[in-house]
Amino acid sequence: MSQIPAKKVLPPHTRYDSDFADEKLIRAMLAAPKADNGLVHDIIAKTKENREALEPAEAAALLSVDDPELLEEMFAAAAAVKKAVYDNRVVTFAPLYCSNYCVNNCVYCGFRSGNGQSVRRALTQDEVRRETEVLCGQIGHKRLVSVYGEHPDYGADYIAQTMSTIYSVKVPVRSGIGQIRRVNVNAAPMTVDELKTVKAAGIGTFQVFQETYDRDLYARLHPGGTPKSDFRWRLYALHRAFEAGIDDVAIGALFGLGDWKFEVLGLLLHARDLEKTFGVGPHTVSFPRLENACGSALKNKHQVSDADFKKLVAVLRLCIPYAGMIVTARETPEVIRSVIAMCTQRDASTRIGIGAYSDRYTEQESERQQFLLGDTRPLDAVIAELAEMGHITSFCTSGYRCGRTGDHIMKMLKSGHEGRFCKLNAVLTFREWLNDFASDSTKAAGEKLIARELAEIRAALGTAYTPEIFNQLLQYQERINKGERDLCF
Ligand code: SAM
Ligand code: SF4
Repeated sequence: MSQIPAKKVLPPHTRYDSDFADEKLIRAMLAAPKADNGLVHDIIAKTKENREALEPAEAAALLSVDDPELLEEMFAAAAAVKKAVYDNRVVTFAPLYCSNYCVNNCVYCGFRSGNGQSVRRALTQDEVRRETEVLCGQIGHKRLVSVYGEHPDYGADYIAQTMSTIYSVKVPVRSGIGQIRRVNVNAAPMTVDELKTVKAAGIGTFQVFQETYDRDLYARLHPGGTPKSDFRWRLYALHRAFEAGIDDVAIGALFGLGDWKFEVLGLLLHARDLEKTFGVGPHTVSFPRLENACGSALKNKHQVSDADFKKLVAVLRLCIPYAGMIVTARETPEVIRSVIAMCTQRDASTRIGIGAYSDRYTEQESERQQFLLGDTRPLDAVIAELAEMGHITSFCTSGYRCGRTGDHIMKMLKSGHEGRFCKLNAVLTFREWLNDFASDSTKAAGEKLIARELAEIRAALGTAYTPEIFNQLLQYQERINKGERDLCF
């Protein structure tokens, strides 16, 4: 194991020499007098009607709402925007923690270098294979986000190797083949060359969470002398991803570190800057809430209340209407249920210890994982619940594999075209999962949902769909029932 470097040598920030997340502007907007109800009502109506990204001052006005009726109006509008862009689809995935070696010392994280209680481990390629076999062969996941601490021994080359290993795994299941079709990556900021390495390995979305957009707070939480202490290096991590040709990027902030309203506006400014610079906004937005981690010096898990959490999800949904929104198993089932209608993705059957899927330990062992989870239910139970609530679980990954990414997918989402493909592909991939993995009771709930989806598609013949497309959908379903896999539009 190599020694932890004192300070990574970073290339000069020649191209990105200022912060797009202008703190003075954010503070001024948050200090503005509370918006009157009429104005808020107009902003909600406008975004619901046109799904136009909101101006930061408009988002700040929504953040100031505390009138219960207006809040309900905001939640309903946020759910309506989600439905209009993504229909009733929820994509499920699992995180795969590959390595928790980390040179950084983020005060809130169980993997921080100063945490002597943390059990350190990096998966070998064999172990990655075994983890993947469980995820795609027993649980039925098709999409993972692989997660890494920051360490020179486990940088871009290691990340690329783990991705290739994950993609190579194929497991015979009930009537088809289980396999991971999309690997997203949550890792430290990288150089453009390093990013090209992970791009070549087939990265789906590259996720980097800024944690906080408040520079002073950032400095206090990320001690100097570590790579992560460089605020701007992180701020432009996703700009460099675009330069490397990765056009699906994901932003996020860790809620609970500071003023949650500040972070919502920081995320909005981040999304706007990506859109302005590259013509395409973030593929997804994440809003993890701080959990108490083993060995962490920071224990303020409850700083963002459940009520504020719901509000921040609604405001993000309304101000960045075309981005996917990810709620994670950090949250309890109850909290997830309260926001899922505004979200597009969630994880399930989640384990966040290194090697935790195949090691088969059952307890949430705090010294092996980053923090403790709120929702540990299996994917089967989550899918059944989603189906009961009217949400279809989509395992579709065809957008990425057919080149429908970045600018292309955003244009299609805005025009409504992507949504039409997605509805068909959701039916097909849900059919695959029901046939290969569902318990009897989940299958029954899923079949009802598929029947409803087919009825909706049939009702849209002549407008959204042609009879030929509908017939092809039915034929694809039959072929899937006979064991063929990976058929998509
Ligand atoms: N090491 C990389 C980095 O920091 O960007 C990626 C992996 S890190 C484990 C992924 C994310 O976990 C971080 O960006 C942070 O937002 C989140 N995280 C860290 N500590 C957490 C905690 N105590 N509760 C909830 N989320 C946490
Ligand atoms: Fe390391 Fe990431 Fe945890 Fe910070 S958040 S200590 S960088 S794993």
